Amino acid sequence: MFKTIIGLEIHVQLLTETKAFCSCSTNHFDSEPNVHICPICTGQPGTLPVLNENSVKLAIKAGLILNGKINKVSRFDRKNYFYPDLPKGYQITQYFHPIISGGYIEIDGKKIRLRRIHLEEDTAKMLHSGDQISSAKDSLIDYNRSGIPLIEIVTEPDIETPKQARLFMEKLRNLLRYADVSTGDMENGALRCDANISVLDEKTQEISKRVEVKNINSFKFVEKALEYEEERIVEILKKGQELIQETRGWDSNKRCTFPMRTKEEEMDYRYFPEPDLPPLILNDEFIEEVKKLIPEMPEEKASRFVQQYKIPQYDAEILSSDKELANYYEKCVESAKDAKFVSNLIMTELLREMKENEDSIEKVKIKPEYFGELKELLDTNKISIKIVKDIFPEMYKTGISPKEIVKKKGLEQIENEDTLRRIIEEVLNNNPDSVEKYKNGKKKLLGFFVGEVMKKTRGKANPQKTNQIIKELLDEN
Ligand code: ADP
Ligand code: MG
Ligand code: ZN
Repeated sequence: MFKTIIGLEIHVQLLTETKAFCSCSTNHFDSEPNVHICPICTGQPGTLPVLNENSVKLAIKAGLILNGKINKVSRFDRKNYFYPDLPKGYQITQYFHPIISGGYIEIDGKKIRLRRIHLEEDTAKMLHSGDQISSAKDSLIDYNRSGIPLIEIVTEPDIETPKQARLFMEKLRNLLRYADVSTGDMENGALRCDANISVLDEKTQEISKRVEVKNINSFKFVEKALEYEEERIVEILKKGQELIQETRGWDSNKRCTFPMRTKEEEMDYRYFPEPDLPPLILNDEFIEEVKKLIPEMPEEKASRFVQQYKIPQYDAEILSSDKELANYYEKCVESAKDAKFVSNLIMTELLREMKENEDSIEKVKIKPEYFGELKELLDTNKISIKIVKDIFPEMYKTGISPKEIVKKKGLEQIENEDTLRRIIEEVLNNNPDSVEKYKNGKKKLLGFFVGEVMKKTRGKANPQKTNQIIKELLDEN
């Protein structure tokens, strides 16, 4: 039997307005190529970097929410290599003395330890022929991304399964988003993951060589790429063949990994301290100031939801797992003044619709005020809870208010007792056998009659009144 060992190296783009060492904008997604550039981030000779204070704050924030130790003294180093996306010929990073040491994220009660978090700068973006922008057999380069501040998070090899790796990435993304450290979007490269994997032979206690998989660009693919490698490695070992220590890429179209370079070809980066930047020295006031910027985090929020709104822990955890969803929930409660009613509707109807349509909460068209309307329609007996659930999909799809839908479709509950009595009398007349049985003591048939009335009225009859009138009519003679 083999046990899987996984460690991740994660690059995170920080949510600063400007780049790490110059004042160019970080807005590289919806810009023309090569517009947010200057002599510093294009590596012109004679320029000097100036550290962006906000990037330091965001790195500390990440350290705090991930339970790390903030190092009051850290340093920048040069990682030297040549590539067109790196105009200086070196990347400024923190190799010898990172800003954060240690930390952990808990997944299913197990602590996945972090080794370090350090600050560095992003490279430019290469677009090769076949990519969306260029149809020529060339490579194009966009320096808008060059010098955007990153943190790199390095875990210990504590992850035991591909699924756990995905859960880790999802939780990390949520925490980073919560604290506004990063957008955390894997799809557009704001969060990028390199995964290291090896296996332990439980019989011999020998650990295999390890493989690093690069270019994984979605949460699903973190799991898929690692599953693929896990299987590939075990198969090689079972055959008694030699596993090559190498870096592999993930091909998301073919859903497989492919060799990129072997360890022997691995570069020597000749790291040395960056002479153009002084040591980064933090004082307590600065760290305290950053602490104050951290919002209520998911676990705290879930506890508060349980206390304040009296909803189950399970519901509270789901509602607070996403900051925008949690905000939405609280706005809906404010409007409906019934926390349980709202949480039930969100947990069942809303989350189901979102899942079916693959929407995020930002896409939801149902305004929080509509939960107040629904509650009012219910409390004034205009509609039943069944109708609430019936019209929910339409509210979701169109964003039309429940009052309007109810009016347009004539779904208002039948309240008028004379009308109800007429309908019920009809039901009773149509079912003489059941009426007979009821009168002979089979009182359970009450439910059957109510059901028939609901069928006839398409769920619009007021259930309490229906019950009461049926009893009156059957028990009176
Ligand atoms: P390197 O210096 O070669 O990059 P590190 O020791 O710095 O190696 O580790 C890099 C990443 O590889 C870390 O995320 C770590 O958790 C992971 N890692 C280390 N050993 C193993 C292993 N045996 N199996 C899987 N991942 C590992
Ligand atoms: Mg490494
Ligand atoms: Zn610049």
